[in-house]
Amino acid sequence: MKVLVVEDGRTTRMMLKSAVEGLGHDCLTAADGTEAWQIFRDQGADVIISDWLMPGIEGPELCRLVRANPGPYTYFVLLTAFGDRMHALEGMQAGADDYLSKTLEVDDLRLRLVAAERVSGLHKQLAEQDARLRTLAEVDQLTQLANRHKSTETLTHYLSLARRQQMPFSLAVVDVDHFKQVNDRFGHATGDEVLRRLGTILRRSFRDEDVVARWGGEEFIIGMYAMGAGDAVNRLYRLLDAVRHEVFGGPDGSKFDVTFSAGVAEFPRDGLDQQSLYRAADEALYSAKAAGRARVLAAHNSQPPAIAA
Ligand code: GH3
Ligand code: MG
Ligand code: MG
Ligand code: MG
Repeated sequence: MKVLVVEDGRTTRMMLKSAVEGLGHDCLTAADGTEAWQIFRDQGADVIISDWLMPGIEGPELCRLVRANPGPYTYFVLLTAFGDRMHALEGMQAGADDYLSKTLEVDDLRLRLVAAERVSGLHKQLAEQDARLRTLAEVDQLTQLANRHKSTETLTHYLSLARRQQMPFSLAVVDVDHFKQVNDRFGHATGDEVLRRLGTILRRSFRDEDVVARWGGEEFIIGMYAMGAGDAVNRLYRLLDAVRHEVFGGPDGSKFDVTFSAGVAEFPRDGLDQQSLYRAADEALYSAKAAGRARVLAAHNSQPPAIAA
């Protein structure tokens, strides 16, 4: 582990350092709380063993700063004068995990470091579990795109930004054409593979700041900040081209093409909130399907053209 010893008394500091290193850990040292805070922010530490009274930032305050800092858990041990239990309690209330008498024996230190290792390990496991759960809650497992829940949050953010900055925002609803036939002809696994590949093409085709998500089934949405419907329609046609050029294959070795239809709605022209924009884009999508599929229509222009493109 990486242990940071904070102690203004040089002798105690050096003694602690050699004890920590003797127990097989790396040891950084700081001569006061301010220096310790600097080192901690630059390099982090698994364990901090800190004196109480020091010039500048004192032990409990350092502990509060460390606790308020997001990031991996740091096990915090406060050094107290011998037998000083009142201070120990105060230190624990400041967020310390344990206390250690300054007149320490190496065995006392060893005990603390064993506990530190265990507690840090548990915190790490929790953080990993937390990250895994967040991914599950936010990412569509088939395509690795954002899911509906996550993208709804992001769309809300971009829409209020568009409102504040008086910028356009386009929302596209994309639906794979005759996808049921893919499943029926080649099986569900091939259908899944098509969706996965579409996810990859979508990720590759849009900017990082675009919202690209799978909203369930074979339906995707794309949110484009600072982009009017005209430009958005053009980008979706480029996407349609890319999808058309992709060769898909069934388990029997036969090749097939995939197309999609899409509807695009623009903020504020076609709607002021997510629901009304979605409705407008979905209506345009419906018109695109009715007009023969494999096309992109903007909401204000969503009547099927007399002659299909
Ligand atoms: P349209 O051009 O009108 O959109 O026709 P479609 O066949 O794509 O539309 P429909 O809504 O009739 O069928 C969608 C199909 O998508 C039905 C459903 O079984 C399939 N589907 C939905 N989610 C998944 C999935 O995760 N994997 C696979 N393989 N198929 C899925
Ligand atoms: Mg001191
Ligand atoms: Mg479909
Ligand atoms: Mg559908």
